[in-house]
Amino acid sequence: MKVKKIAEVRSKYKEPVGPDEMKKNRSIIEVEEEYLDGLDKIEDYEYLQILFYFHKSEGYDLISKRRKGSERGLFTSRSPRRPTPIGITTVELLKREGNKLHVYGLDAIDGTPVIDIKPYASFMDQPTLSLQKKTPRYRINKLIRYQNLHDLLLKTGELHGHYCPFLALGVLAAADALKRLAAENDGMEDLLAVVESNSCFSDGIQYVAGTTFGNNSLIYRDFGKTAVTFVKRENSSEALRYYLKDPDFIEREYPEAAELFKKVIAERRGSKKEQQKMKELWQEIAFEIIEADPDKYFKIEENAEIELPDYAPIFADAECSKCGERLMAAKAVQKDDKVLCRDCAESSYYQLDGSGIVEK
Ligand SMILES: [Zn+2]
Ligand SMILES: [Zn+2]
Repeated sequence: MKVKKIAEVRSKYKEPVGPDEMKKNRSIIEVEEEYLDGLDKIEDYEYLQILFYFHKSEGYDLISKRRKGSERGLFTSRSPRRPTPIGITTVELLKREGNKLHVYGLDAIDGTPVIDIKPYASFMDQPTLSLQKKTPRYRINKLIRYQNLHDLLLKTGELHGHYCPFLALGVLAAADALKRLAAENDGMEDLLAVVESNSCFSDGIQYVAGTTFGNNSLIYRDFGKTAVTFVKRENSSEALRYYLKDPDFIEREYPEAAELFKKVIAERRGSKKEQQKMKELWQEIAFEIIEADPDKYFKIEENAEIELPDYAPIFADAECSKCGERLMAAKAVQKDDKVLCRDCAESSYYQLDGSGIVEK
């Protein structure tokens, strides 16, 4: 076996301080002159896998206590102390300057020998991509099965745009319900979620349960309660309703965040700095909430009774005689023998917005 050093790490860390802390920083990988041509077109890649040698590591234990949690085998860990002390980290490539690769997310100390660099791309490196093409919610289903709420919340943030307590509560309720109902949603309206308000809470439900506005499995009841009922059509007598029993918990357990919320959101008079602080606190609280047992926050009603709408009908088409746009016939209005859309007919309609359902 031959292993060659091809580059060296430049980092502000001369000694290890823990991978999470080190990953928050930029580092430089200095590639040796003789391998420089090998970097041709590396800028085409957003991410790189860096293989490096833990040159300060000595010895190993096959079983030892891990940084987080219990004792485990060496090959279930990323410990630097291994029979062949090689580390592998995926980093973001920020820029290349000659033989220098500026990267983000590398947890290697200054002077670490790099033994290889490879491009990373999800189509090459995600082992379950083909399964996901067959079952779009493959990964989410798995996260629910393992109750990995951390990753579920992380992904839900992509939909919602920020992390907040009510988003986390939606994730907590949906992950619990889908596990209990053993539901794997394929977006064909067989699993429904009936929400009773449209707040951040419903985004947690839409993402985790896959019951969305677009696939007609998110039913909205304009009750203004933080509550949701999950139900499988095939088993409608076994609905599960989650009702937030203690909406004051934020004020009580997180007074600083509640105070900032009042100022920044309710009264719209917070500074940029206070907005930022609030988002940070919200993020912390959100990730704390998902650690809890759902019973802590919700009154959970089993076998809840709920009346369900039919599967979404396929409506016939109509054409507005004024603007010429096509619409569902059931939504058209007749005026003086003409078929019109509600916009052209200037007739009333319903709108779902931040105030709930309002008649316009
Ligand atoms: Zn939110
Ligand atoms: Zn029209």
